Amino acid sequence: MGASAKRGPFWGRALLSFTCRLRGVDLMGKLREIENAPFRSPEEIREKQFEDLRALLAHAEARVPYYRDLFRRLGVRSQDIRTWNDFIQLPILTKDIIRANQRDLVREDVPLEKLSPHFSGGSTGVPLKFFRSHEYMVASDAGTYRNMEQCGWRPGEMIAFFWGGNDKLYAMSGVEFELRQFARRQYQFDPFFSGDAEMADWARRFARIRPRVILGYASTIARFAAFLDSQGETIGGIKGAFTTAEKLYRPQREVIERVFGCKVYDCYGSSEVQNIAAECPEGKMHVNADFVAIEEDKVEGDGPRPFLLTSLQNLSMPFIRYRNEDCGYLSQESCSCGNHFSLMRLEIARTSDNFLFPGGRVVHGEFFTHLMYGSDGIVNFQFHQTKLDEIVLSIVPGPGNAAARAEKIQESIRQIRAVSPGHPIRIEVREVESIPLSSAGKYRFTRSDVNSTGAPVERETTSSS
Ligand SMILES: [Zn+2]
Repeated sequence: MGASAKRGPFWGRALLSFTCRLRGVDLMGKLREIENAPFRSPEEIREKQFEDLRALLAHAEARVPYYRDLFRRLGVRSQDIRTWNDFIQLPILTKDIIRANQRDLVREDVPLEKLSPHFSGGSTGVPLKFFRSHEYMVASDAGTYRNMEQCGWRPGEMIAFFWGGNDKLYAMSGVEFELRQFARRQYQFDPFFSGDAEMADWARRFARIRPRVILGYASTIARFAAFLDSQGETIGGIKGAFTTAEKLYRPQREVIERVFGCKVYDCYGSSEVQNIAAECPEGKMHVNADFVAIEEDKVEGDGPRPFLLTSLQNLSMPFIRYRNEDCGYLSQESCSCGNHFSLMRLEIARTSDNFLFPGGRVVHGEFFTHLMYGSDGIVNFQFHQTKLDEIVLSIVPGPGNAAARAEKIQESIRQIRAVSPGHPIRIEVREVESIPLSSAGKYRFTRSDVNSTGAPVERETTSSS
C-alpha cells in the first residue's frame, strides 16, 4: 500500500485536520504517536506499560489526595513499587470508594472547572460521577482511530457513528448539523430515536454520506442491519463495523456482517476507562496495553473473573486497580495478526434493551440511564417496560436530598412522556428496598418485555458471542 493510501483520502483528511485545528485538538499527532505501539515486541510492550504505570503511581501520590493518604496509610512510597508483584499488593478501588471519595480522587493541581464531569453508564449501582480531561478524550479518540485502522479505514474517511445523549448536536439546525458532521468526518445517528421511520431515513443518509466504517452501540447497529435486511437491502463500501458499549450477541454479529458485507470488530471500553480492548482481524480481542493495565481479580470457582483495571492515560482522576464489575478471562496465548498486545475474552458486560413505544419510536436503554445522571438520594433504580404503554420505575432511595430525588423522578416522568406524544404512557414509581439481579448476576437498569415487533422477548437465554 502506497503512502498516499495510508494517509487516507485527500479532501476528507484535509477537512478533518482543519476541524481538529479549529478545536485545538492534535488528534492526528496523537494517532501517529500511538499507531505502532501494538506492533512492538511483547517485551518492549510490557516494559513500556510498567514505565507508564510507575509514572501514574508517582503522579497519583504527588497530586491526588486520596492516593497520597493511601500510600501514607500503607507505609509505602510509589517509588517502592518496582515489580508487577509489588503493584498488585495495592488495594482495589471499588465504586463505593469512588462515591465516598469523589473530590479526593481528582488531581488537586488543576482547577475542577478545567476538567469535564461525566457519568458512567454503569452495570451495577447508580451511574458514577467522574472527571476527565480534554487530553484524555483526544487520546481516547486516537485509540478508536487506531482500532478502526485495522480494517483498512483511514482518517478522513466517513464514520457512521451510532451514539446517544448528544442533545447539543441534535438540537442544531439541519444545515449546521450536516456541515459539522461532514467536516468532522463523523456522521452521528441517534439511538434514542430509532424506530422504523428513522431507520428508513438513516438508509437514505447512508447512500448520501457513504461511510466507510460503522461505530457505536452494538444493539442499535444490529437493529439497523436487521431493518435493512427486512427491506432486502445491503450496503456496500463498508470496511468494518466497530461495536461497543454493550454486549454483542452472536446473532447481532451475524446480521451486521451479512448486511454491511464487512467484518465486525467488537470493542470493549467504558466511559470511565476508555478503549480497554478491541478485536483484531483474526477475531481475537487484544487489550490496549498503552491505555490500560488489566488483571483478573481472585474469586472462587472457574467462572469468569472480575476485571481490575488501571487506566494509564487518565491523570485527572486516576483509576488504579478499579473493579468495574465486568468479567472475563485474560489469556497468555499469542495471535498471528501481528498485534502483540495480550489477549482477553469479555464474558459479562452490560446489556441494554431497546424500548418500543406506541407511535413506533424506539429508544435505546441508555436514554433512561441518562435520565438518572447526577441523581441525589437514589441508590439504585430500574426502568422496566412491562407493556407497550407502561413503565415501572423502581427506586431504591438512600440518604441524601429527598426533594432532589422527587424532582429527578418528576423530570424523568416528563421526559418519558415526551417520547411518544399523543400516546399516554402509564408510569408507576415504586420505592423498593432492593432490585433483583439478572440471571447473569448483574443489575439491569433498563429492561423491556416488549420487542420491536411488539412480542414478548426472552433476553437472558440469548446465546452469547
Ligand atoms: Zn490479533
